[in-house]
Amino acid sequence: MQEQAHIARNGPVVILGGGLTGLAASIASGAEIYEADEAVGGIASSDHSEGFAFDRGIHVMQAVPARIRKLLDDAGVRLNVRNRRAFIYSHGTYTPYPFQVNTAGMPFGVRVRCVVDFLTRPRGSRPENYEEWIYQSVGRGFAEKFQIPYSEKFWTVHLAK
Ligand SMILES: Cc1cc2nc3c(=O)[nH]c(=O)nc-3n(C[C@H](O)[C@H](O)[C@H](O)COP(=O)(O)OP(=O)(O)OC[C@H]3O[C@@H](n4cnc5c(N)ncnc54)[C@H](O)[C@@H]3O)c2cc1C
Repeated sequence: MQEQAHIARNGPVVILGGGLTGLAASIASGAEIYEADEAVGGIASSDHSEGFAFDRGIHVMQAVPARIRKLLDDAGVRLNVRNRRAFIYSHGTYTPYPFQVNTAGMPFGVRVRCVVDFLTRPRGSRPENYEEWIYQSVGRGFAEKFQIPYSEKFWTVHLAK
């Protein structure tokens, strides 16, 4: 059994897991966190070995609202600011990431399909899993042309799971 890292806070609720979700919930509620690992951070943390840092997941904040920036400043976190130039190679062309707001350059038929499917996407029912959430959020075109294959590769599991 790994030693439990324990952040002392007072409250009637306890939080299992000190990843970003647990840390945010603790800030909002003041509840105690119990973390199975030796340190908090979960997927967003890094492992250190022989002077090198190995990130468990990519450490990128796509946007930093003022409130979050203050939170990070108060915690002593220093951000490196970079201008991102990320592209998706699809249908013989490079489209700026994220795909769902950058269809310029894609074949006309694909662009029409994505936009029409977005406008007519199913809405109203509660998504049961990430795949359903994607269909409801961006529609079939964006979902099947990019979001689903990208996310399956990213998370390495079927999105219904
Ligand atoms: C490869 C990759 C790249 C990513 N890149 C980005 C990015 O660039 N930008 C971005 O915003 N997001 C990114 N994400 C997503 C983001 O990192 C995660 O969504 C987020 O870190 C998940 O936080 P979490 O607290 O929900 O879960 P986790 O980080 O998984 O935290 C769960 C915590 O709970 C602990 N735990 C589990 N079971 C127990 C138990 N029984 N008792 C006590 N503790 C327990 C675990 O040890 C862990 O610390 C990326 C994810 C991946 C996989």
